[in-house]
Amino acid sequence: MQGLMMDYPLTLTPLLDRAQRLYPHKEIVTKVGPNLERSSYAEVAARAGRLAEALARLGVLPGDRVATFAFNSNRHLELYFAVPCMGAVLHPLNLRLPAEQLIYVINHAEDKVLCVDPGLWPAVEKLAPHLKTVQHFVVLGDHTPETSLGSVHAYEALLAEAAAGFTWPALDENTAAAMCYTSGTTGHPKGVVYSHRSIYLHAMALVMHEAMNISERDVFMPVVPMFHVLAWGTPYACTLVGAKQVFPGAHLTPLDLAGLIQAERVTVTAGVPSLWLGLLALLEKERYDLSSLRDMIVGGAAAPRAMIEAYEQKHGLNITHAWGMTEMSPLGTVSRLTSSQLERPEAERFALRAKQGKSVPLVEIRAMDEMGREVPWDGQTYGELQVRGPWVIRSYYSDDRSPASFQEGWFRTGDVVTIDPEGFVQIVDRTKDLVKSGGEWISSVELENVLMGHPKVLEAAVIAVAHPIWQERPLACVVPKPDYAGSLTKEELYEHLRPRFPKLYLPDDIVFIEAVPKTSVGKFNKRLLREQYRDHQLPA
Ligand code: ADP
Repeated sequence: MQGLMMDYPLTLTPLLDRAQRLYPHKEIVTKVGPNLERSSYAEVAARAGRLAEALARLGVLPGDRVATFAFNSNRHLELYFAVPCMGAVLHPLNLRLPAEQLIYVINHAEDKVLCVDPGLWPAVEKLAPHLKTVQHFVVLGDHTPETSLGSVHAYEALLAEAAAGFTWPALDENTAAAMCYTSGTTGHPKGVVYSHRSIYLHAMALVMHEAMNISERDVFMPVVPMFHVLAWGTPYACTLVGAKQVFPGAHLTPLDLAGLIQAERVTVTAGVPSLWLGLLALLEKERYDLSSLRDMIVGGAAAPRAMIEAYEQKHGLNITHAWGMTEMSPLGTVSRLTSSQLERPEAERFALRAKQGKSVPLVEIRAMDEMGREVPWDGQTYGELQVRGPWVIRSYYSDDRSPASFQEGWFRTGDVVTIDPEGFVQIVDRTKDLVKSGGEWISSVELENVLMGHPKVLEAAVIAVAHPIWQERPLACVVPKPDYAGSLTKEELYEHLRPRFPKLYLPDDIVFIEAVPKTSVGKFNKRLLREQYRDHQLPA
């Protein structure tokens, strides 16, 4: 017997319609230089309609890719809806990719239109001669820049010329809505194509208490860029429930972020740990009123326990740790404690919150050993995390490397984890970052977390260095807090590490550096560090 309910397609169009009807006046705020520009869901929806009309006039057809090269802004949000809802595919480009990778990605996706923030135009103009498929450039402002390139349009002029009342087409829920490329630390970036259905279901999961817990009452500030896994899907989740959104624009210094949280009374924000480490250092010196902030969602890299503790104990601010991947839209696990876990002693609660957490509803997880057997959920045995669910990739876009990433219909994450009996996942390391010392695997993440718990340390990255006997040994690269640069000693750090690790796990050497190099999305770039320290002589 079949159920007798409607086969209602999960597309993004009703999501936008709903926000326009129910929350027309809710604000969308964008920081532009020192100023704040204010828009609303009514305006975003109306302008998205005009934008779709304008893009159709430029020749954008269903399935065509429309790329963006832009910071977080209200115009970017308009593109987030106009492009998928007209049946085309939104392709946000990672602003910090090297030129050759950007060229690869644009040509591989066969982007037809490229929409660019005015301030980023010079970078795009340089790429232009290498782009094989782009027919139009749209500059996201009032004017076109001086350029010898043809087919360059001003966004506002296109919108002004376009008729209102665009009729959104009916779409199948499995139609491609957007694509993002992984940052490709080895080889070319790989394309991930999201469908309307996957984005919709992911947005519904994000707003749940189990995940980001966002409602109409929230003021949400995505610090994660809109090119990084669609700002973790948060613009769609916020629109779904009508939350006010605050886009920080191009400037993401701790000073800018603290100012914006204070001024707009932000309640929830999300971003990678390095940002919050910076903000924490600022809060040690200056006072801000961040009392509106109910939750800071931290993911993309491990949130050190010391950071979670410091925010809570010194500033009364809550960090919620989450794990995900571009291939998973990105939400996989969130470290929200259950009612019984909340009653445990403080130290146990912090230990749990420093883990990456339980899988969110609809995401299934398992951890597999090297023989392809599932490992027990005992909180100790290492395995590679595999996942499946409605917003998990089933294949990369037009890429013959795809098969290696799947096993029996599960996606292989490349992350080594333990899963405890309560289902809490702990990321031990990325497979490629583990330090393989003799027969032992040493977690670089654990060492980093403890080092970053030292009161004089700002950042720490641990990498593997080749060793004649052990194969690899850990090297710690440490950035002291500014007040301790030059005075912090290796011995102080070893004293801090010794009681917490077996001797074998201690780094063979510690070097002091000015800053940990960051990847295009603000994570520690350990590949670069490994290259820099490839020939580092470990003390005997
Ligand atoms: P990139 O490859 O650009 O870093 P992703 O955001 O897709 O792009 O990276 C996903 C990876 O980031 C995961 O496979 C995992 O290794 C790491 N990661 C994400 N969140 C966390 C977290 N909370 N703790 C530790 N590692 C994380």
